[in-house]
This record gives sequence, C-alpha cells and structure tokens, in this order.
Amino acid sequence: VQPPPSTLHAFRAAVRRAPGRTALAYFDGRLSYAETDALSDGIADRLAGRGFRRGDRAAVMLQNTPHFVLAVLGVWKAGGVVVPVNPMYKSAEMRHILDDAEVTAVICADRTWDGFLRVTAAEAPSVRIVLTAHERDLQTRDDRRVLHGERVGPLHGAEDLLTVARTPGRIRVAPADPGLTADDLALISYTSGTSGTPKGATNTHGNITYNAERQRIGLALPDGATYFALAPLFHITGMVCQLAACIANQGTLVLAYRFEAGVVLDAFLEHRPAYTVGPSTAYMALMAHPEVTRDHFASFRTMSSGGAPLPPALVEKFRTGFGPYVHNGYGLTECTAPCASVPPGREAPVDKVSGTLAVGVPGPDTVVRIIGEDGRDLPFGEPGEIAVRGPQVVPGYWRRPDATAEGFPDGELRTGDIGFMDRDGWLYVVDRKKDMINASGFKVWPREVEDVLYGHPAVREAAVVGVPDAYRGESVKAYVSLRPGASAEPAELAAYCKERLAAYKYPRAVEILAELPKTTSGKILRRELRHRA
Ligand code: ATP
Repeated sequence: VQPPPSTLHAFRAAVRRAPGRTALAYFDGRLSYAETDALSDGIADRLAGRGFRRGDRAAVMLQNTPHFVLAVLGVWKAGGVVVPVNPMYKSAEMRHILDDAEVTAVICADRTWDGFLRVTAAEAPSVRIVLTAHERDLQTRDDRRVLHGERVGPLHGAEDLLTVARTPGRIRVAPADPGLTADDLALISYTSGTSGTPKGATNTHGNITYNAERQRIGLALPDGATYFALAPLFHITGMVCQLAACIANQGTLVLAYRFEAGVVLDAFLEHRPAYTVGPSTAYMALMAHPEVTRDHFASFRTMSSGGAPLPPALVEKFRTGFGPYVHNGYGLTECTAPCASVPPGREAPVDKVSGTLAVGVPGPDTVVRIIGEDGRDLPFGEPGEIAVRGPQVVPGYWRRPDATAEGFPDGELRTGDIGFMDRDGWLYVVDRKKDMINASGFKVWPREVEDVLYGHPAVREAAVVGVPDAYRGESVKAYVSLRPGASAEPAELAAYCKERLAAYKYPRAVEILAELPKTTSGKILRRELRHRA
C-alpha cells in the first residue's frame, strides 16, 4: 500500500484529474471537485488571514453536510488540525474539548453558536475565530439554498462560513501549500464516550491515508464511485471510510444531514450509491422501516458494518430480505477506524462454540496479537486482550503521556477489547473487557447473549448488562426493543435464551423498551442501561 502523504494530496489529485466531477451531493445540491476546492480555499484563506497557524486546532462541529467537508479541507489547507465534534454535545463536553485541545477556531451551526457555544467559548481564552453555517440552510431538502442561497449577516462575533468560502483571497491567486507530511496531525478525535472521560486520539495524515488507500484497493469499486455517508463524518469511521476513502477513489460523497431511515432510503433511490458503511444499528433501523424494499439497495456493490458488534442473525436477515452481504469490520478511534475487515468476495465465519461472527482479518501491514494479563501471546482460540500494531495506529493521546504509555506500551495499541484468533487468521471480538458480567463467579460476555436475542424474530435491538444481585454478585439482564408490529413477552424471550445458552448465561430479567439509548454514532449505550437497572 503506497498512500499519498495526506488526504489533501489525494484531493488535489482528484481536482486536477476530474475537476467537473461531483465531489459532494446533498439533497438537490451538488458541488464539483473544482468548486469544493475553491470554497475550501476561501476558508483556508480567512483562517490564515486571522492568524491561524500551522498546527493550530479547529473544532468542526457539524452534521453530515457539505459545510463539514469544506471546513475540514479548509483547516487542512491552512496547515491546521481538525477536532471533529459531535454537534449534539452540550456545554460541559465542549468546554472540556475547547480547553484540552486549546482550540483556536470553531466552525459550527449558527444555532449551536447562539444556543450555548458562544457562552462556553467565551470562557476558553484560546478561541479567536468563529465561522458559522446557517442551520436553516443546512436542513433544507428541496432547494438549492444550501449552497447558493443568500447569506444572513454575521451573528454575535461569528462570520458566515459560506460568505467566507466565497470570498476570493490570497490562496486563489497563489495557491498555498502547507506542505503536509504523513507524520503531521490531521485530527484530534475524542473517543466517543461510551466509557470514561473523552481523550483525544491523535490521528496523523498518514494514519488516515493508509486506511483510506487500503479500503480503496480492498473494495475495488470503480473509479469515481458514489459513496453514501451513513455514519457521521465527525466519527472516525465516517471521516476515514467514507470521506477520505471516497476522495482516494475520486468519487462522489452523498450526504444527508444525519441518520433518519426514511430520508436515507429516499437518498439511496435518488443517488444510487455503490458503497456505504455504518453501524449495525443503522441496518436494523433501515430494515425496520415500513417502506423498505429490496430495490432501495439494488445499486450497492458492497456494504460494510463497523464500530459496533454485528450479530450474525442480522447479516442473514439483511441478505435474505433486502440487500447484499454486509461485511464486518473492526476498529477503534485509536487505530483510525478499521484494523481488520472481511476481504471482498469472502464471508466471515461464525465461531461454532460462541456463535460469534468473525470481524475480519488484519490488513497486510498490521499485526494483531491476542495477549494475556502478562502481555504474552495466547494460543489460537483462547480469548485475551486484542493488541494492534500497524500504520493506522495513532502515536498516542493528545498531551496525555500517562494515558499514552498505558494504552500504547512500546507503540502497540491495547484495545480494551477481548477477542480470539482462529487458525485461519480470522479475528473474533468477544466483548469489551470492562463489560464482562460476573455472575456467581462465572464470566458472561453480553455479546453472546445479545447475538442469541437477535435470532428471535420479534427482536429489533438488544443490550445485555450485569445488574447487582444479592446472591450472585451480578445477574444478567437484557433490554430489548421490538420490530414494528411484532410482539413478545419478556418471559418468552428469557425462555428463548435459556434454551440456547448455558444456565448461568441466560437473562434472569428481560425488559422491553420502545428504543434503546444510543450514541449519535449509533452505538447502543450499555452504560446508560446499567445505570437504569
Ligand atoms: P470510548 O472509547 O469512549 O468508550 P468507544 O469505545 O465506543 O468509546 P470507538 O473508538 O468509537 O470508541 O469504538 C471502538 C470500539 O467499538 C471497539 O473497541 C470495540 O469495542 C467496538 N467495535 C468496533 N468494531 C466492532 C466490531 N466489528 N464488532 C464488535 N465490536 C466492535
């Protein structure tokens, strides 16, 4: 794999080769590679003009909109580091990020700025530049206002992003090149917070282009293929497997604000994408939509699931009822999205004992080890912590030498996930180390129980947690949501598990909820359910 030094290099190659090709499609709006280049130049120019320097950090807090992409390219062109932030974050989370990353520039929706960020940023002395995108425009579906509309005036210390982008400046006249190298920081990605306080993983440009290039070669999509951004771009999977991979393939990226099953299905018909990747919960939501048909997925060459467990029953339900085989992939923010994936044309095996679907095989330059408490390699089939070394592993956490030493001893990433490897090199993820349930001294991995629940025809989503139990220490409790129109009693679901699992593993309690709590990147939040119990 010979990736370019940065995604900006790949982007410029696409601008030179296919300037008129659509880079970004957003409902009715489209931007060519040349237009995307010119608009992001405008942003870079303004940042540089206001004293934003190489290595400075810019928080980009937007949903999947063209503005997100323009902002990211603009920051990179100015030599800066992007801090992607979930737009659903509230004041306290933002305060932590603005301080921790010492953010110079903030790029967000005007509603966010006016709603709370203006007050939060006022307490962060490093913030000097604010660009806002008009929220009403961002949500527009049916006209061209998004990209070509009239601008509103500047708002409380912020400048309008698109006005800035359209203002010709120095860079247009003499294109500046920040001279990015593979070792320069591209992102500080705060881990999604399914556990603990967010730490910033430092993804370099080389980390990103390696995974983007691997994906381009692995998927073998036609040059210029259409990618659909199912995962949020502010999450590492979206940033790398959708945005960077699409640019590496000189393709078209279809954006649709944020995940909403009906909107996504309409966009599939309108844009006929060849590829997408999203969390398994997105596939569950698409399958549960009342109007979904096989035709919605007819244009896809391949589809992937990543960032969350993929129950084998879901892959089968999807293939028999709707679309292509869904490829599993395993990764973390700390290894810049995937470090193992299912090679195209292959199907992941299911482990006979546990019923777990393999997540894939490690890439060619990636070494995955399964290690015991003492850091030594464990034999095939034996579960232990997954450790990863490879070109996609980040150098560490932003300004956290202690956490870096602990999480990356000798440069090897300790994932905190328990898994095992079979003799053919397939990797299986059992669960997160910290989610293990200890029921009367027996280890129960929630995933195994959830995989069984997903096999029940009425179950849409399932999450299993340990709850305090006077006799057992902890006991197993399942939360489920049901498919539309389906019905099932808690006792029936418990009995279904009891038939299929060892006695200590089946859930002693089952509670049915309308919807399970999730992160905006689509992961089911077991932690929240544990607190609820
Ligand atoms: P935090 O670090 O704040 O707890 P997070 O762990 O969700 O958040 P991410 O980097 O977004 O942060 O997610 C990586 C985790 O997602 C992995 O450590 C693993 O537990 C889980 N995961 C990713 N892909 C898969 C997969 N294919 N199968 C099972 N689990 C997966």
